[in-house]
Amino acid sequence: MTGTRVLVLNSGSSSLKYQLLDMRDSSRLAAGLVERIGEQTSRLKHTPLAAGGDAREADGPIADHDAALKAVAQELARDGLGLDSPDLAAIGHRVVHGGMFFTQPTVIDDAVIAEIERLIPVAPLHNPANLTGIRTARALRPDLPQVAVFDTAFHTTMPESAARYAIDPRIADRHRIRRYGFHGTSHAYVSRATAELLGKAPEDVNVIVLHLGNGASASAVRGGRCVDTSMGLTPLEGLVMGTRSGDMDPAVIFHLARVGGMSMDEIDTLLNKRSGLFGLCGDNDMREIRRRIDEGDEAAALAFDIYVHRLKKYIGAYYAVLGTVDAVAFTAGVGENAAPVREAAVAGLEGLGLAVDPGRNAVRGDRPRIVSPDSARVAVAVVPTDEELEIATQTYALVGKNT
Ligand code: AMP
Repeated sequence: MTGTRVLVLNSGSSSLKYQLLDMRDSSRLAAGLVERIGEQTSRLKHTPLAAGGDAREADGPIADHDAALKAVAQELARDGLGLDSPDLAAIGHRVVHGGMFFTQPTVIDDAVIAEIERLIPVAPLHNPANLTGIRTARALRPDLPQVAVFDTAFHTTMPESAARYAIDPRIADRHRIRRYGFHGTSHAYVSRATAELLGKAPEDVNVIVLHLGNGASASAVRGGRCVDTSMGLTPLEGLVMGTRSGDMDPAVIFHLARVGGMSMDEIDTLLNKRSGLFGLCGDNDMREIRRRIDEGDEAAALAFDIYVHRLKKYIGAYYAVLGTVDAVAFTAGVGENAAPVREAAVAGLEGLGLAVDPGRNAVRGDRPRIVSPDSARVAVAVVPTDEELEIATQTYALVGKNT
């Protein structure tokens, strides 16, 4: 392997996010996003980070992912970072669902693509979009190693007691129903970065990671290995999220169908896209919710309380799962920025050794930091996540090993 650059692609159904990194120092050379692919109003936003210039935006129809990646390649070429360069070592793809099969990042070949395809029934929205990105990138650079990094892989270490639902295992196995978990690259990165922040090896610490973005999940990580996580067969289970309900009595679904007369698709949309903070108060952005609370808005206050109550329950549950906890790490948009969420989530948990120092918690920053008092038994940390760097790191390590 001669190159040192890795292109990270995160391909959604109508979007393509990318970053180009130089793995000699993990620096970001360029980053960008193509939105609304397939529509008349597509937009490409490209930031030439290495060149230090302003972001460039181009509007106009981009028909498909193939055209999107070619447009990205052109932008990169303008910065002298063309995808035909020998400096490009590999492309790393985010793939949402790797099922039980993919426990590690994997070099992509036809058999790997076929297996990702077989998993479409458990990830009908995400895996087809991820596959489109993979196929497009392979067509553009068929000679280049391409690596799939799975959102589920970090969670494949969960014991059966945590991964199984309490249903007939024959039915579960026939339909591949079990708890897979998601946001795995983030949980992996943040749990390791938290150990580093504590000055310890990942094997020597137990961490509760709270990934609170628009999607949100918690994980219990013992000695660097995930032992439980809050998302399940799909990302719908667990915490209250921006637009997802999280945990609910499954009988709510029967009730909505039988008594409410809703179709399965309507219920799916309701619980995934119109619930959570948005469903409760009409806003899914925590900044807006805090602003409304400050103005005395009761619906926003109740949404916040429900969000925090669920979060606290998971902290308690994972504390019990782990037995001893070295740190609780907050990450992603809400976790990194919303000091009131961190404060409220650990309020009253002094008995568990958990507290935030109000002064430390109020300080903003983009570096990992501890926001608990020095005297606290358990560190409360804010650890910015970096899924692209994690995908690039895993991709580069795997390609380096194979050449
Ligand atoms: P993510 O999915 O990690 O990009 O997180 C997106 C979410 O982070 C948004 O929907 C906001 O709710 C939240 N967020 C971003 N910035 C802030 C902030 N400064 N304060 C509170 N919440 C924020």
